[in-house]
Amino acid sequence: NEEIQLAERPEGMPTKDTFRYVETEIPELKEGQVLIKSIYISVDPYMRGRMNDTKSYVPPYELDAPIAGGVVGQVSESKSDKFQKGDFVLGNLPWARYNAANPDNLQKVDPDLGPISTALGVLGMPGLTAYFGLIDIGEPKAGETVVVSGAAGAVGSTVVQIAKILDARVVGIAGSPKKLDYVKNTLGADEVVNYKEDDVAKALEKACPDGVDIYFDNVGGPVSDAVYPLLNAHARIPLCGSISSYNKKEDQGPRVHGFLVKSKAKMQGFIVGDYSDRFAEGKKQLSEWFKQDKLTFEENVVEGFEHVPDAFLGLFKGENLGKQLVKVADE
Ligand code: NDP
Repeated sequence: NEEIQLAERPEGMPTKDTFRYVETEIPELKEGQVLIKSIYISVDPYMRGRMNDTKSYVPPYELDAPIAGGVVGQVSESKSDKFQKGDFVLGNLPWARYNAANPDNLQKVDPDLGPISTALGVLGMPGLTAYFGLIDIGEPKAGETVVVSGAAGAVGSTVVQIAKILDARVVGIAGSPKKLDYVKNTLGADEVVNYKEDDVAKALEKACPDGVDIYFDNVGGPVSDAVYPLLNAHARIPLCGSISSYNKKEDQGPRVHGFLVKSKAKMQGFIVGDYSDRFAEGKKQLSEWFKQDKLTFEENVVEGFEHVPDAFLGLFKGENLGKQLVKVADE
């Protein structure tokens, strides 16, 4: 067996020295436990925050212990009557090829709903983030203008599609021509803006002739600075994440006070886990849209356990179109 530990707390962008590969024994199962072979390991931007020794909504990763996160795997041995050998499961598990786990921390993945990897993407945590953030906090109405930053990523790509399903006008912001093409021509956004090449403020003004009613913010920083002057009266801003700040010592903004007062906008941060008592509702709706071909998804799958850290770092360089995953074993 093999696991990846946090070797040191990074300052700024993590490097190879942040991670340590350790060979371990395949764990012996205790009564009631199951052994899971990891198939897909999810890398997610929030993990960067857990590498710092700071207080947050989840505790920091411990030094010299494995990094953990969303994993879809297969039960290879079971001492529990809740799971059988061969079952696909989703859990929050260490970055390891094999993990022993308690059934209470696992959910069954139904391969008939879609590819099992979608339990980490459009039908899993990122999809639910998009769903609750947009619907609960954004409260979109037909015809309103919804701006989405990080529009080609796991959460953003789902937000764009849900907003279109609800008949909003959608403007997506992302960082490459390939991503913009995807957001516009596959996901159906009305307009797109490349924040790396365009003058974002000017491009957004042109893309939003009727102003902005909802700003679903995945990135923060200068991209968001360009959105605030365009807010309409009573705009809503679901604050989902601020990836532009995750590797910086200082928060990258935006500065919003005056714009919020003038527009009487509502800005609200949220953490998807707080909606856990409504996950069933979210999953049901996302699965229905998926079955009806109203919702599509893209994945950037890197193969090989040894590439988990690189795939994680790629998130901060924009290497992923859609959900970033690492495939570490066959189904
Ligand atoms: P993505 O799949 O969107 O991957 C990250 C993307 O962020 C990259 O592909 C890159 O795209 C973009 N990016 C990286 N650096 C910057 C930067 N400096 N400025 C602007 N964009 C940047 O990740 P997720 O969909 O998993 O997560 C999106 C956001 O949602 C994150 O901020 C994450 O922390 C947050 N989140 C919040 C949750 C919650 O409960 N509140 C739950 C899940 C996610 P590009 O090429 O366009 O730059």
